[in-house]
Amino acid sequence: MRLKTLLMKVKNRLKKRQNEDRVSKTRPQENIQEKEETHIEWIFFMKDFLEKNNHIISNGLDERVVERRNGRKYSMSEHLKGLIGALLTNQRPWVGIQPHLAKIDIIFYDYDVEKVKSTPGAYFTRELRAIKCGNRNIKSQMNNLSANISMMEKIEEEFGSMDEFVTSAPATEIVKMMSDYNSEYKFKNIGVALAWEYLKNIGIDGAKPDVHLYRFFGGDRMGNKNRIPATAQEVYDTVSALSKKSGLSMGMIDSLVWHYCADGFGMICAAVPQCNRCVIESYCKKGLIKQVSHV
Ligand code: SF4
Repeated sequence: MRLKTLLMKVKNRLKKRQNEDRVSKTRPQENIQEKEETHIEWIFFMKDFLEKNNHIISNGLDERVVERRNGRKYSMSEHLKGLIGALLTNQRPWVGIQPHLAKIDIIFYDYDVEKVKSTPGAYFTRELRAIKCGNRNIKSQMNNLSANISMMEKIEEEFGSMDEFVTSAPATEIVKMMSDYNSEYKFKNIGVALAWEYLKNIGIDGAKPDVHLYRFFGGDRMGNKNRIPATAQEVYDTVSALSKKSGLSMGMIDSLVWHYCADGFGMICAAVPQCNRCVIESYCKKGLIKQVSHV
């Protein structure tokens, strides 16, 4: 089939499907505004699928975002917990960390800042490896923990508190300040993805650019642009727009997409996508091309 004909069929199919949905789909969540339903409903189909099949674990992100919006402040100890939690997600699935969270709290003395700062990194590396919660940078991460706490203390002096710092500018700016090598507030072992993870851990809303989101929002799958995979900015802009339309936090949308894709959870929109099992196939360019090419 010629490419032009194929693309025309995909376009017509998507249009037809959206018209059908407008008429016949049951409203998945009551707070979706009617006029916006066709653009965002796939999020709720995905959410229903993940929940029904126990493919999603509550990570409390949404609750933390709401709590912060309602005025919750985070102590230095909680910021340290958020930072360590982010470090542990470095290039490894969260599913292996989750069952050990209580043990991790004990290893880090319930995030007693002074105690953690004065403990040699080798101790944390050894203890984390013993419960299989290490990662390829764990030694460097733990050896640099004390330096990162010193950075937090410097920020505390300059901004008043870590909480004042993380809310002193838009989240994208804070991520840059923490991860850019030219920034005076650069944290060791923290790049863009882990800075986002840290901010989410302390209730700042955002989307962590992750391999799953880059791929999912690529131009050949669920993205509006052409880049494959999507860029960090495209992921951020798309998730931000979806958040505004759906009323869900960016963190929740990030989490849903991540769980839909990740190993040990949905494993649907993975590197090799399982389009035949996908509940949002009709909203996706790749899914529609597969459907049309089978006609
Ligand atoms: S149809 Fe395939 S590529 Fe598209 S979202 Fe579903 S699994 Fe991913």
